[in-house]
Amino acid sequence: MSECIFCKIVNKEIPATVVYEDDEVLVFMDIGPIIKGHTLVIPKKHYDPVTETPDEMLAKMHITAKKIAAAQMNGLGADGVNIMQNNGRASGQEVEHIHIHVIPRFADDGHHWNWHPKKYDDFDEMNNLAGKLREQL
Ligand code: 5GP
Ligand code: ZN
Repeated sequence: MSECIFCKIVNKEIPATVVYEDDEVLVFMDIGPIIKGHTLVIPKKHYDPVTETPDEMLAKMHITAKKIAAAQMNGLGADGVNIMQNNGRASGQEVEHIHIHVIPRFADDGHHWNWHPKKYDDFDEMNNLAGKLREQL
């Protein structure tokens, strides 16, 4: 993936402020933080999207995100943490190399997700969608 910006960060072709790395994962500061301290966890090997990423790597990434969340609370004094992962342009994903956002949250940080809950027309509509999901599992 020669054009992938996160592969370039892994290969040190472009700089990043690294927080943690081992043989499998790299953790670095997001250049455009939602909240200062916003951190990204990526596999060193290129995978995308989540459905094409091996289970073992997903486990490793999430265990790493948990450690980063603890570091944000203990080291930055975060009151909470958002852990997010986008898949596909429709979800808001911009960089197509799987990554977990670990975002420190502070009681007074002023950030609000644009999250407006909707309603199903009726129980059948919800149950029909659940049925389509069950068929795939
Ligand atoms: P996505 O929308 O794909 O889930 O998130 C991509 C994230 O990568 C964004 O939060 C963006 O700020 C961050 N990002 C994009 N390019 C770079 C870069 O070159 N360096 C760093 N450190 N972060 C980047
Ligand atoms: Zn990549």
